[in-house]
Amino acid sequence: MIKDNLNQIKSKLPKEITLVAVSKTKPSTDILEAYEAGQRIFGENKIQEMVTKYDELPKDIQWHMIGHLQRNKVKYMAHFVDLIHGVDSFKTLLEINKQALKHDRVINCLLQARIAKEETKFGLPFDEIKNILNSKEFSNLNNVKVVGLMGMATFTDNQDQLTKEFSSLYNLYNDLKENNADFSILSMGMSGDYKLAIECGSTMVRIGSSIFGARNYKK
Ligand SMILES: *Cc1c(COP(=O)(O)O)cnc(C)c1O
Repeated sequence: MIKDNLNQIKSKLPKEITLVAVSKTKPSTDILEAYEAGQRIFGENKIQEMVTKYDELPKDIQWHMIGHLQRNKVKYMAHFVDLIHGVDSFKTLLEINKQALKHDRVINCLLQARIAKEETKFGLPFDEIKNILNSKEFSNLNNVKVVGLMGMATFTDNQDQLTKEFSSLYNLYNDLKENNADFSILSMGMSGDYKLAIECGSTMVRIGSSIFGARNYKK
């Protein structure tokens, strides 16, 4: 079933769009099923859970951290994480840089922008993103590379609102891209809204439940 879901989504995804299969809360056996169907990029939102799965699963998997980051846990994933989507402070960038240096790596990151109306959603205001990218302190970080932006839209069926939120993020991304050769990824869109996100300019979608089924958090 996972294979079928995956193949169906992939068959409809424009080929320049990168699919992150969001496997949070799902067992490694589920991930293997998607892996056997050809999927190599998986997204997790808890560092500890991602580390456990990394240890168990094939080493050519690219692991993306898509959740809110606890700075004191960055060290546990610094040796293998492929892309960190949810960076929402300069302090976190500093910590990622420090841990990446220990492993002689450059870790790719996305800055998370606040686009949703909901207060509960994380992310940086647009002007803070610009301030970080233009700062001297940032230019001194040699072991992190900011390759784009990530955003989560409001949880709503209102297509006008979603379009507004996604488009505002796309416009920011496009502006910043002009002066930043490293920018190539705009991560927006989940199971419920990825088609619209792609229409609005997304280059990377994060899809969980449409591939792996509904999550059960009470286990
Ligand atoms: C869980 C999660 C997703 C995937 O959500 P689905 O609705 O299951 O596709 C995408 N992005 C983030 C940041 C998530 O936490």
